[in-house]
Amino acid sequence: MEFHPTSYTLGCVECGKTFSEDDQRLACDELHGPAFLRAHYAARQIAVRGGAAGMFRFGDWLPLRRPVTNSGVPVAFPSEKLGRALGLENLWIVFSGYWPERGAEMKTCTFKELEAPPVCSRFAGGGRTLVVASAGNTARAFAEICSRNDIPLVLVVHEAGLDNLWSTHPFSDAVTLVGVDDGADYFDAIQVADMIARRPGYAAEGGAKNVARRDGMGTALLAAAERAGRIPDHYFQAVGSGTGGIAAWEAAGRLLADGRFGAAKMKLHLAQNHPFTPMTDAWAAGSRALLDVAEDELKARLARVSAVVLSNRKPPYGIKGGVFDALTETGGRMYAVTNEEASTAAALFERLEGIDLDPAAAVAVGALKQAADRKLIDPQEMVLLNVTGGGKKRLFGEFPIHRLAPRVVLKRHEATEETIARLFG
Ligand SMILES: [Zn+2]
Repeated sequence: MEFHPTSYTLGCVECGKTFSEDDQRLACDELHGPAFLRAHYAARQIAVRGGAAGMFRFGDWLPLRRPVTNSGVPVAFPSEKLGRALGLENLWIVFSGYWPERGAEMKTCTFKELEAPPVCSRFAGGGRTLVVASAGNTARAFAEICSRNDIPLVLVVHEAGLDNLWSTHPFSDAVTLVGVDDGADYFDAIQVADMIARRPGYAAEGGAKNVARRDGMGTALLAAAERAGRIPDHYFQAVGSGTGGIAAWEAAGRLLADGRFGAAKMKLHLAQNHPFTPMTDAWAAGSRALLDVAEDELKARLARVSAVVLSNRKPPYGIKGGVFDALTETGGRMYAVTNEEASTAAALFERLEGIDLDPAAAVAVGALKQAADRKLIDPQEMVLLNVTGGGKKRLFGEFPIHRLAPRVVLKRHEATEETIARLFG
């Protein structure tokens, strides 16, 4: 497979400062409020790289610096049966996961497999080890890609996510898994990861602040636009951190500037799993800040949702260039979808389209059904449903499954700077 590094700069969405050298920068260095950087690619018009590996076919709009073996590409196709059942005449699905008849070969069964390859490609390393905190799916995707490419990686995962660390291949020693238990959630995992990343020889992956992560996720929209030849009018996705929604908004902006994909101003429809809906609640209140809810109350709500991967307590919502700005600029909507609505929607999808969904994707289908039932969408408009994960049931029936065991499990209260210094000297 041929590889070409991509030509790009980084720009601050708040002050416009440009950084022409990419030193794995995650934020602007000027004194202003929190703001994203955005990648500005030399190619205003995208030329799909036919000979490139996997998702690197969209490499013109990915911050690629070194080759990384990857094979996953999101697969887009027009829905017939689900669209008809919901009264939508122009429904498209973009699927990330395992569905060989559709050409979907992501054996992690999650669109997080779109984040890890560009992040690892952008991260030139310099002997440093990448540190990633995750609710599970991101961890699985990074473990898969780093294992396959022998890229050193430390993963920090809270206990509810540990079951998500599996692969169809044995894991290499390049990957170190750290568990955090004792009632820890995703936010606790992030705090532990931050402590490790501050040690010499380690570097934070950066989450939503990493342009490679967002532009990797944005390839789901690029794949759909490539197939459909245009920007959709509406985009549906379930969100935990909201990064996928921000990524889709940014990718839509690039497609608009490209000029060959129509002029649709794609409206974001983002869904959370009731009752854990911090962004849905803030958006309904017209607030750029997340509403103040006690930690215990948030954790109690978290315990009641089926899509535990959508469990970020501090999502990049109010940050400049984040979810609030994306919703505001696109005239977007937020949804709250109950466990029951999600499981009904997942069963409908599996029956009509023929593949099992992961719990987060089920929430997205639940939101689409709400929008259709409430007649929020003109039936003729093009709707893109981002099915962010699926095919696990199918995959587990076809392949031997290997598990990644934690090298260390920390109790939440034990995860102090001293402990971390001792373990990651
Ligand atoms: Zn700035």
